Amino acid sequence: MLLDGKKLRDELLLKYKEKIIDNNFKIKLAIIEVGENDASKIYINNKVKCCMNVGIDAKVYHLDENILESDLINLINELNEDETITGIILQSPIPKHLDFDKCSSLIKQNKDVDGFTKENVYNLYLNRKNILPCTVKGIIKLLEHYNIQIEGANIVIVGRGNIVGKPLALALENRNATVTLCHSKTKNLEKITKNADILVAAVGKANMITKDMVKAGAVLVDVGVSKIDGKIIGDIDKKAYEAASYFTPNPGGVGPMTVAMIIDNLIEMKEGEK
Ligand code: NAP
Repeated sequence: MLLDGKKLRDELLLKYKEKIIDNNFKIKLAIIEVGENDASKIYINNKVKCCMNVGIDAKVYHLDENILESDLINLINELNEDETITGIILQSPIPKHLDFDKCSSLIKQNKDVDGFTKENVYNLYLNRKNILPCTVKGIIKLLEHYNIQIEGANIVIVGRGNIVGKPLALALENRNATVTLCHSKTKNLEKITKNADILVAAVGKANMITKDMVKAGAVLVDVGVSKIDGKIIGDIDKKAYEAASYFTPNPGGVGPMTVAMIIDNLIEMKEGEK
């Protein structure tokens, strides 16, 4: 059965829109874009469109690719202090002469839409209230929507990146799953993945998870994105769907949920202001 991220995104966006109108929320998102990157432009346009659809004001601050780090920091500080701004996103990647981790962690915790600041990461580690990274939150919302039990499940995550794999492992552990985090040095990967009740692939290697690596009846969540001949290909080979009880299509699964969770996080922040 399909874990239909697109459908759930559309349902959630309608709910968010109603909530924003009912509460007369004035929400403003600041997106900082540094330099020119075609993929980033597409992501930013999607975010802006999604915000507009639900009545959120999104403004893109486009900075020259040769900007000094001090100027980027000044802008982040200004937006931190601006009471009309609810949330801030520093779109990655940024040019190499700028330190993304340093700059993104300067965003105030209560404006940190992506959940990347030290405070949010630390709170996730301690299982305290935190803003979850959007992809992580989107995956959890999708599983919960389809009543897939997380507590007690054996969950295998392939990929330990800072944006998806690592925070997802913590968030699922916090929800009482038993989590195994795999990476490029993991031995006998197929033996481990075959034990998974829920298997998440967050690598970016097309079709690397094949049917023989999947337990019968497992839930498959495909986060990875590779572009081959202009087409998006996930980490999970479509033949593996035959063994699964549930699976996310890719595209159309985790991606749409990630964008919707930007709105979810912004509403959470607005509610936190009360
Ligand atoms: P990342 O930081 O580059 O992490 C990739 C991970 O994959 C690393 O931990 C790496 O292991 C592991 N890996 C590489 N080759 C492997 C192999 N052969 N076997 C097992 N593990 C292997 O990437 P990321 O930022 O986490 O993103 C992962 C993927 O998700 C990308 O394709 C990205 O585009 C996609 N993504 C999608 C969304 C969405 O909304 N759909 C959102 C975010 C990211 P090492 O640590 O050992 O190097």
